[in-house]
Amino acid sequence: MMGGTFDPIHHGHLVAASEVAHRFGLDEVIFVPTGQPWQKEGANVSPAEDRYLMTVIATASNPRFSVSRVDVDRGKKTYTVDTLRDIRAQHPEAELYFITGADALSSILSWQDWEELFDLANFVGVSRPGFELRIDHLQNYLGNYPPEALTLIEIPALAISSTECRLRASENAPVWYLVPDGVVQYISKRHLYGSRDGARSDGS
Ligand code: ATP
Ligand code: MG
Repeated sequence: MMGGTFDPIHHGHLVAASEVAHRFGLDEVIFVPTGQPWQKEGANVSPAEDRYLMTVIATASNPRFSVSRVDVDRGKKTYTVDTLRDIRAQHPEAELYFITGADALSSILSWQDWEELFDLANFVGVSRPGFELRIDHLQNYLGNYPPEALTLIEIPALAISSTECRLRASENAPVWYLVPDGVVQYISKRHLYGSRDGARSDGS
């Protein structure tokens, strides 16, 4: 699983998912766009359907990637523990891994019911430019768990964030090559992020 706001999904997300799938021999990566993200309450988050569709567009060409609507359809704020419970219920036999970037991992202790998280899935923390990949604050607690409960890995560094993509789109700067082509076109078509004519589809 790879949870995220995906507003918009970008190549940093896709490289993280692809690399973890490769390193852990995963059969599938399920991208799970958030419903109303509680950590970003008050922030201007695009409609869930737009974020869901961009995630579908970005992952469509990879037969091992899929997108789940569990968080979008839950109709309330998204807590990772609910995501894990729902995916677990849909895949009772699966060994689950939750992929998270260094920044999201650092805030893991602020997640609701975080003690239960490690019972529901293994966690993989991936490197992300600009953030330190540290788990000192989890060390005491994780002592009770097998080593695979949390693995930290270095992945190819892509200094891309959705925040930067939104900013660029709002200034009519190109987001080509930061996000998949279909996502550039979707942003343009739906005039997301206050783009005048979106990220211009002629690439200029
Ligand atoms: P925003 O700037 O809006 O917070 P974001 O780029 O951080 O967006 P999210 O949807 O918040 O994207 O992130 C989803 C997950 O992907 C998080 O676990 C985050 O740490 C991880 N992630 C995002 N960008 C990268 C990247 N460039 N490299 C590695 N992991 C990333
Ligand atoms: Mg983020």
